[in-house]
Amino acid sequence: MTDYKNLLKKIHEKYLPSTKGSLASYIPELAKIDPNLFAISITTVDGKTYSHGDINSFFTLQSTSKPFTYGLALMDHGPEFVHQRVGVEPSGEAFNSIIELEKNSHRPFNPMINSGAIAVASMIQDKLLDNNEIYIRSDRMLDLFSSLCGKKLEINEQVFLSEKKTAHRNRAIAHLLRHFDVIGNDIEESLDLYFKQCSVEINIIDLSQMAATLANQGVQPISKIKIYDEQYITDMIGLIFTCGMYDTAGAWAYQVGIPAKSGVSGAIFGVIPGVMGIAVYSPLIDDHGHSVRGVNAIKDISQELKLNIFRQQKR
Ligand code: GLU
Repeated sequence: MTDYKNLLKKIHEKYLPSTKGSLASYIPELAKIDPNLFAISITTVDGKTYSHGDINSFFTLQSTSKPFTYGLALMDHGPEFVHQRVGVEPSGEAFNSIIELEKNSHRPFNPMINSGAIAVASMIQDKLLDNNEIYIRSDRMLDLFSSLCGKKLEINEQVFLSEKKTAHRNRAIAHLLRHFDVIGNDIEESLDLYFKQCSVEINIIDLSQMAATLANQGVQPISKIKIYDEQYITDMIGLIFTCGMYDTAGAWAYQVGIPAKSGVSGAIFGVIPGVMGIAVYSPLIDDHGHSVRGVNAIKDISQELKLNIFRQQKR
C-alpha cells in the first residue's frame, strides 16, 4: 500500500523553503496573502483523502474554476452550441491574452484562457424554476461548485470586488467578444459571473475533491452524487490537458503527463482518470501564472506514484 500521507509530507518539506515566484499583484486583494502558505491533498476515486500542510487555509479558485463552469455550459447547451462560440485548440499564449481569437470564426481558442472562460460564463443564464422563482446564474454556479465539495461554498466578496474594480483587461476582452458576437449584450453580467467563479473560496481538501470528481467520471467520490454527465467529462479533461497550463501546456504534457489546471491564486489541480485528484496550493506564482511550489509538488507526485498517463497502464 502506498503511504500517501508520508509522501505528501516529504514533498511539502522539500519545497517549503523555496521562496521563488511572486504574489499575483494585479488583483490587489491577492497581493495581501501570506506567501508561505503551502498545502497538498490527494483524493482517490474511492473517496479517501490524504492531505498535508496548511489544510485549513482558504483561497480563491481563480482559473481552476474554468473547467467546472465549462462543464456546466456543456450540460446546459451541449458541445455543439458551446463550441460554435469557443474553440478546442491550445493558444500557446498567456492566460489573459487579448489577441488570441481564431482567425475566421473570432472564437476564443479554448475555454481555459480568460477570453474563452468569459464566453463560457456568458452561456450560463438564470433559470426559471417550476414554482416561477428565478434561479440566478451565480447561485447555479455556486451550488454546482458546492456539490463538488460536498459542502456550502461562499464567494470571497473582497476578492470579487477587487477583481471587478481593476479588471480593465478582462473587460476589454469581453467587449471584443461582444464586437464579434461571441457574447450578447449582457457583458457586465457575464463578467460578474466570471469574477464570481474565480472568487469562490475553498481549501485544499475541497479542491482535491473537485479534481477527484472529474477523475471519477463526474461522480463526487464521497457523497456519490453524480454532478456531471459522464459524456462531458472526457471533453473537460481533454481540454484541461491540452490548454490548462496555458503557454506551458506542451512542456507540462511532456514532463509531467497529467491533465492539470492552474490559477493565479496559487491553486493547481491534476486529474488522473479512474485513480485520483491531486491539489496543491501555494500563492507564489511564476511568470506563466502557475504556483511554483505547486508545479514542483505535482511533478514529484507524478514521478513517485508513476502517474504519467502515457505510461503503460496495468490492467
Ligand atoms: N481571475 C483571474 C483573471 O481573470 C484568473 C486568471 C488565472 O487564474 O489564471 O485574471
